[in-house]
Amino acid sequence: MDNGQVTERSQLPGCKRIVVKIGTRLITGDATGLNTTFLDSVAQQLAELREDGHEFIIVTSGAVFLGRKLLALRKSEDSTSLRQAAAAAGQPALMRHWSEALSARGLKCGQMLLTRDDMRDRSRYIYLRNTLETLLDKSVIPVINENDSVSIEGITFEENDRLAAMVAATARANLAVFLSDLDGLYTADPRVDCDARQICRVEPDQDHSAAARGAGGPESRGGMTAKLAAAKMLADCGIPAVMASGYTDRVILRIVDGEQLGTFFVPGRPVQGRKLWIATAIHPMGSLIVDKGAVRALRNPDGASLLPIGIVRVVGRFNAGDLVSVVGPDGDEIARGLSNYPSEEVALISGHHTREIPDVLGHIGDDEVVHRDNMVLVTGD
Ligand code: GLU
Repeated sequence: MDNGQVTERSQLPGCKRIVVKIGTRLITGDATGLNTTFLDSVAQQLAELREDGHEFIIVTSGAVFLGRKLLALRKSEDSTSLRQAAAAAGQPALMRHWSEALSARGLKCGQMLLTRDDMRDRSRYIYLRNTLETLLDKSVIPVINENDSVSIEGITFEENDRLAAMVAATARANLAVFLSDLDGLYTADPRVDCDARQICRVEPDQDHSAAARGAGGPESRGGMTAKLAAAKMLADCGIPAVMASGYTDRVILRIVDGEQLGTFFVPGRPVQGRKLWIATAIHPMGSLIVDKGAVRALRNPDGASLLPIGIVRVVGRFNAGDLVSVVGPDGDEIARGLSNYPSEEVALISGHHTREIPDVLGHIGDDEVVHRDNMVLVTGD
């Protein structure tokens, strides 16, 4: 759907730094296994937007698909090691094509291959952020993919949508554009349901997960659910996102110009510094199950910290300073934050008043289990 309307997107303040995520099915296409026309068109649009001072980071899929072609793997041949080998073989080809398309338009690029561990560890995350900043400062476009060939099964990004969202948050981007062969979020899968309607705008606390389920296809690992989760994560960080079809003519230029294409995800309140990392870190080390009163206090706009009195149960083992998830009585994740106490101590002080902490633990400790300054609220998804 392309209704050509101009929306408030055009008034996005300083939409300077943009992450463009490109799905496998846009990259692939012709007999050689690569849609060079599409890559050229993206490079051309970025070159034009660069003239207006925009900066770009590309998050690109396609290595596994290209590698499978190069290794002449049959559809039935699929295993973790074959996928990782395919990624190793396909990534140089993918990168060569990006490099050619961009350099033909006077744009420099640099490859970054990331694993989830690079984001989990805060010091590695800071190195990553600095490298991104330095590349952008030197007018180099970072071209990023997951380092699939060494990613450990079970702790991969699984799809590049999440990777793109984390990169956008890490680089403090002003906009993330998710391009795929679907032109945004629909009320149902438009390929099977002719009553499906496009959703043009998603507010930060709106839940469209049911609509997203099932959309996607054989070459893409993410589908709509992954894109929705990624866009929601960005909304929690205060970064706007657009999901649109890469087949739409000059789609990136038009989105940056403020045209309403695809689905626009309205950002929540901006999150800064350490909180950005907390909002995007994938795996909390444990969970704190809290009561209704604590949920109310945390959701209060004045922003309370999590005190021991509101904690009902502790799940998992973690150390002081580790990332934990705060979960309400219904099982919904309410917030994420850094625990001031290790799990054994949280278990001991749970349900107690703050003033009782020294007696229970035998030493003085922080009043809060998770301080507000180290906490990010999670919206429903
Ligand atoms: N990293 C994978 C690749 O390059 C893509 C994962 C995805 O489909 O999002 O093939």
